[in-house]
Amino acid sequence: MRAAVLTGARKPLELLDLPDPACPADGVVLRVLACGVCRSDWHVWTGADDDVALPLVLGHEFCGTVIAAGREVTRWRVGDRVIAPFILACGACADCRAGQQTICATQIIPGYTQHGAFAQEVAVPRADANLCALPDAMEPALAAALGCRVTTAWHALTGRAALRPGEWLVIWGAGGVGLAAMLLGRALGARVAVVDVVAEKLDLAQDLGADAAIDASSGDPVAHVLQITGGGADLAIEALGIATTTRNALKSLRKLGRMVQIGLPAGAEAEMLLPMDAVYSGQLAIYGTRGMPAWRYPSLLSLLEGGHVNLAPLIGRRIALSQVSEELAAFDGPAPPGVAVVTEFGG
Ligand SMILES: [Zn+2]
Ligand SMILES: [Zn+2]
Repeated sequence: MRAAVLTGARKPLELLDLPDPACPADGVVLRVLACGVCRSDWHVWTGADDDVALPLVLGHEFCGTVIAAGREVTRWRVGDRVIAPFILACGACADCRAGQQTICATQIIPGYTQHGAFAQEVAVPRADANLCALPDAMEPALAAALGCRVTTAWHALTGRAALRPGEWLVIWGAGGVGLAAMLLGRALGARVAVVDVVAEKLDLAQDLGADAAIDASSGDPVAHVLQITGGGADLAIEALGIATTTRNALKSLRKLGRMVQIGLPAGAEAEMLLPMDAVYSGQLAIYGTRGMPAWRYPSLLSLLEGGHVNLAPLIGRRIALSQVSEELAAFDGPAPPGVAVVTEFGG
């Protein structure tokens, strides 16, 4: 099979012919229909994670058609179209049995702990415990985002920080996950402000219904949020993974506000200097979040199938496997608006 392979930090992915993946006894092999390019891929590409073994096929935000199913698999058969959450939990440990699959100690992550889906085929172990049927009416490019960014945003808002209608939600970073949080926050009845430094991203957020779009490249964006929200947001989402936006997110809250760290702090950003006086005096809550337990898919799919959110505008670019490298490099700077999704795999 054709795959885009990372052979060294910051090197262009090599398009190689690899052996077709073997089917795990408890898993499936998918023909990949679509795979999104995510900032987490960029983290691996830059070498920020030294526990990743190269060469590696990246890509953790995918959907596909089952072309082989292992002998232990009971829920899926050849021909099924499925979405895989990027965290493949064991389904059997105490945390998994308590519904907390995102903290499973033995989790497998395609594109990280094993080959991912920037390839024509991907092996997905633990299929019964993790896969979700792709609704017939949903286009693969959209469904791919349900493996990472959209589910992460959904779980942050509804599973972690319990966003309520009428609350002010401020989102720091209007990339894929930030835009998804904006669309979902609006659908949940919140008022949403989006902050970024790229004018095109702010325009897109505003076009898609953001109540306010704040340009952080000029003026004081925290003061701007405090003014718009009448004293601070109820909930702030950090969707980039850097100290500046995490600090600003905390400072943009009203007293008793909640902040969710969605962006992945890696490398030099792994440890941050934060305004803990604001956490103390404002009695703020800080949540970390990462992915979504697979059992929560029906809640999100029901919202989408009901037509309450249109995710289509999230897709900025449909690209070929050969174009992943340039999309990864683009995350070095402020990336262009919308998500890039591989939909052409060649052959
Ligand atoms: Zn991701
Ligand atoms: Zn587990």
